[in-house]
Amino acid sequence: MKLLEHFVSVNGEGRYQGYPVLFLRFVGCNLRCSYCDTSYSYEGGKEMSIPEVLDLVLASNVQRVTITGGEPLLQGADLISLCTILLGDGFEVEIETNGSCDISELPNHPSLCITMDWKTPSSLMSPCMQLSNLDILQSKDALKFVCGSELDLLDAKQLIINCKPNCQVFFSPVFGKIEPKRIVEFILENKLNNCRMQLQIHKFIWPPEERGV
Ligand code: SF4
Repeated sequence: MKLLEHFVSVNGEGRYQGYPVLFLRFVGCNLRCSYCDTSYSYEGGKEMSIPEVLDLVLASNVQRVTITGGEPLLQGADLISLCTILLGDGFEVEIETNGSCDISELPNHPSLCITMDWKTPSSLMSPCMQLSNLDILQSKDALKFVCGSELDLLDAKQLIINCKPNCQVFFSPVFGKIEPKRIVEFILENKLNNCRMQLQIHKFIWPPEERGV
């Protein structure tokens, strides 16, 4: 597995927002979103075995692990094995994925939470999304629309109407591209009563470009 960095912090978004977690950031992404704030994850890092990654987790003294990237599903079967072992050892695991990779092989376990960053038009990556993934998400999982424009908001709304995702739904702003207030107005105007506004708290606690926090 190719790991870029690991660090303990609080989770900035999704279901575990605010909880202490160990972040495992893996190398590589198959997308190139216009607003990407983690382009440093596209390459570099260090080849590590699953036991070596498990040692990092055990040394962290946290009970939740957030697996991110880049796109962590590019680690393939090794990632699935890592998740299976962590879940068997009693950890809660979150996988942040970008919606373009098949999630059907991930373990179906109550302590595995998928946070899917669904790409809206301003990312320029929305044609890469796999609609079949939406059928797999469950109430423990989260679908997150990162919106930077009115068109993004409308696109997200249409997807919710058409696909009726059976999971938690979050709206989040592309930092600096849209007023968070506008997203709140949109949720209220459109009576999206099962959707939640969420801000990336890291951008408010630390400088927006800070790494490893
Ligand atoms: S999916 Fe995430 S890491 Fe990949 S390009 Fe988009 S924002 Fe960047």
